[in-house]
Amino acid sequence: MSFKGINLSEKMLMSLKRQKYFLPSDIQLRSIPKALKGDTLMVQSATGSGKTLCFLIPIIEKIDLKNQNVQAIIVAPTRELAQQIFDFATPFQEEFEGLKIRLFKAGEERDASKKGLSIAPHIIIGTPGRLADILSDGTLNLDNVKTIVFDEADMLLKEGYFAEIDKFVYKTPAPQFLVFSATLEANLSYQLQKYVGPNTPIVNEEILTSSNVSHYLIDIRHQDMKLALEQVINIINPYLLLVFASKKETANDVYAYLRAKKFKVGLLTGDLSTRERKNVMKQIKNENIYILVCSDVAARGLDINDVTDIINVDFPNNLEFYYHRAGRTGRFNKKGNCYTFYNNDRTERALRLIEDGVSFTYLALSGGELVEGHPIKKTHPTRRKKDEELEKEIRRINAMSNAKNKKVKPGYKKARKQEIAKAKQKRRREIIKQDIRRQRVERYKKEGRENG
Ligand code: ADP
Ligand code: MG
Repeated sequence: MSFKGINLSEKMLMSLKRQKYFLPSDIQLRSIPKALKGDTLMVQSATGSGKTLCFLIPIIEKIDLKNQNVQAIIVAPTRELAQQIFDFATPFQEEFEGLKIRLFKAGEERDASKKGLSIAPHIIIGTPGRLADILSDGTLNLDNVKTIVFDEADMLLKEGYFAEIDKFVYKTPAPQFLVFSATLEANLSYQLQKYVGPNTPIVNEEILTSSNVSHYLIDIRHQDMKLALEQVINIINPYLLLVFASKKETANDVYAYLRAKKFKVGLLTGDLSTRERKNVMKQIKNENIYILVCSDVAARGLDINDVTDIINVDFPNNLEFYYHRAGRTGRFNKKGNCYTFYNNDRTERALRLIEDGVSFTYLALSGGELVEGHPIKKTHPTRRKKDEELEKEIRRINAMSNAKNKKVKPGYKKARKQEIAKAKQKRRREIIKQDIRRQRVERYKKEGRENG
């Protein structure tokens, strides 16, 4: 179905056409009509599936251009993302004449931010802290805010930004909330209920990763990780490669190594200044570099065009980030490859992804070549279920001590730690018992066969 199938204005259709958005993506088809009606929504879909337009189109359609007041607020967790959304939004001004959009992001001068606000923008885009600064002091009237967007909502939550967000949300009159993320765990939905209410529909795609991405596990067999990386880069010969590391120290280390080896490589971690980050992005655009080493947080949600390959030198601490990493490639019908290093004797994390439905091709690095690797065996389903229960329990404990009570007892961190340790210990005992039982069964089977 084309954009014409959705009830959009002529102006909007013209604008989309001029920007070469010819067909809506699946998630756009599913969410835009609902958002246009004013529904509050939680939208979960793969990275690269086009979530930005899912909120920009309905927001811009509904702006009353004659009303010089703030009508929509878009919250993003990083300044790059805020900038990116802004860059997505401004081209619409060509058809929507008089549409005012302002970007407020961390890192710029506070006073500069406040300049020119005597005429209110229709749409405000920004990072939580800066938005709280600008919007909570009464300079801008928020009575006409119709829509509030949380983009990459799980990251907003994990970074603890909702205290800042509260400061301006409560100044708006019950607007529509549009919540976006590639992953929406139960825990997140729970935390967001304060804003969206308990019965908000979740609009989602079935799959977390785009089918355009091929996933590979590379058993690096205890080789030095950096050496392995160098070899794999030489073998796959990427056009544009992102290398992910879970820790920024590892990212720094990998970057220094690749540089020393004369690769055209850049670095993107949370430590960089705005200027340094901009510079890195420019270097990619100008094709001065074709490898970018990233930490998870820094690269979240970034839309870099034409990434052909991803190499994960380790698994992310939070396994959900695997999907965010993989989602940097295979965007909008382009093909991509996602390679992940592991050692075949440490497979828990890989197994979790396999059981989540990621379909891997197994490779091993041997003598400087990529060869066929051995598949990883699946764990027992009941074991997996039990593990999930444990995780849920830990989340519950954490959520309890995070929620509301600012005036927690002094020892609460310790108590929480203890409670979690206890739950984990219980689970370990179960596993040991299970293993003993299983070994016994195996032995009986074997002995039975041998005897009879
Ligand atoms: P997400 O937020 O889901 O990760 P984005 O909104 O960043 O995805 O979009 C990913 C890419 O797809 C962007 O480069 C965007 O320009 C492109 N895109 C989005 N919607 C369309 C569309 N309907 N037609 C063509 N390209 C699109
Ligand atoms: Mg996005």
